[in-house]
Amino acid sequence: MARGATVQGGVRKDGGHPMHHVMLKGGGRMPALGLGTYRLTGAEGLRAIRTALEIGYRHLDTAAAYGNEAEVGRAVRESGIDRADLFVTTKVWMDRARAAEVRASADESLGRLGMDYVDLLLFHWPAGHVPLAETLGGLMAVKTAGKARAIGVSNFPVALMREAVECTGGDIACNQIEYHVGLRQTAVLDEARRHGIVVTAYSPLGKGDIIDDPVLARIGARHGKSAAQVALRWLVQQDGVAAIPRSRSEANLRANLDIFDFRLSPGEMAAVSGLGGTNRMVNPSWAPDWDPA
Ligand code: NDP
Repeated sequence: MARGATVQGGVRKDGGHPMHHVMLKGGGRMPALGLGTYRLTGAEGLRAIRTALEIGYRHLDTAAAYGNEAEVGRAVRESGIDRADLFVTTKVWMDRARAAEVRASADESLGRLGMDYVDLLLFHWPAGHVPLAETLGGLMAVKTAGKARAIGVSNFPVALMREAVECTGGDIACNQIEYHVGLRQTAVLDEARRHGIVVTAYSPLGKGDIIDDPVLARIGARHGKSAAQVALRWLVQQDGVAAIPRSRSEANLRANLDIFDFRLSPGEMAAVSGLGGTNRMVNPSWAPDWDPA
């Protein structure tokens, strides 16, 4: 099985929702649909994460910067689901780019999560003030110590991805980027595929903005699905792409998982791809120079 390829999931014995997985370098299998947990903090956040696990989510995306690793860890423990049946991603914030800080940040995250390892550890944003080789060397050390099954980056444009691949000898398994029907990401996707790097689409619903799109709604009507479900299906139907929508509502959490029982035709995939534009929603002052969309 090629790295970065997508495989069909069979019937799950652990109560997880049947879904596709994407294959990571090193053999890990990442469920193609995960729960984004940004802003899911405190009691309300805990409730949403618990609900997600109950209804079949097995992939959780958190970060040191989200302030909710304790909630994620608690929801996992209380769910009784085997750790081996879960895929947990966390991230190191960019102010901790020195190798020793990367290792310390990972240890602190594991402490808050109450876990021995994460499935994927990402460097959250390119930092600039520390050579990339040092930062990624820190991530590799965490992996070598068995505390991360795979490592990767987030918000890395093509030039930085290339540098990351070079200085890790190809150890980068994932680039988590903003990707949805309103933001074409052809350059990063092409480069990622060249290196067998999986792309995780963050803000896959454009933060909720794209759920009224008439083209998506029309396509969805043919399949008995909503515009949001078409937007997510379009992502996970692409080879080597996973998506991590966030929701606080049980109905939306269920809807976002319920996208593995239909297929978009090649014509429908092309029609959705045709919507792709330059509507970037996450663009903080520290963002790198993005590739043209
Ligand atoms: P999303 O694109 O997932 O949109 C979330 C919004 O969409 C919420 O307001 C939610 O409202 C609404 N929504 C969810 N499902 C549906 C549905 N089926 N129908 C209608 N509305 C829906 O935005 P995020 O920015 O949160 O991105 C997802 C995750 O990506 C984050 O939580 C985080 O884990 C990750 N991320 C990573 C970044 C990085 O730098 N690496 C940056 C940004 C995000 P409701 O709660 O009412 O359902």
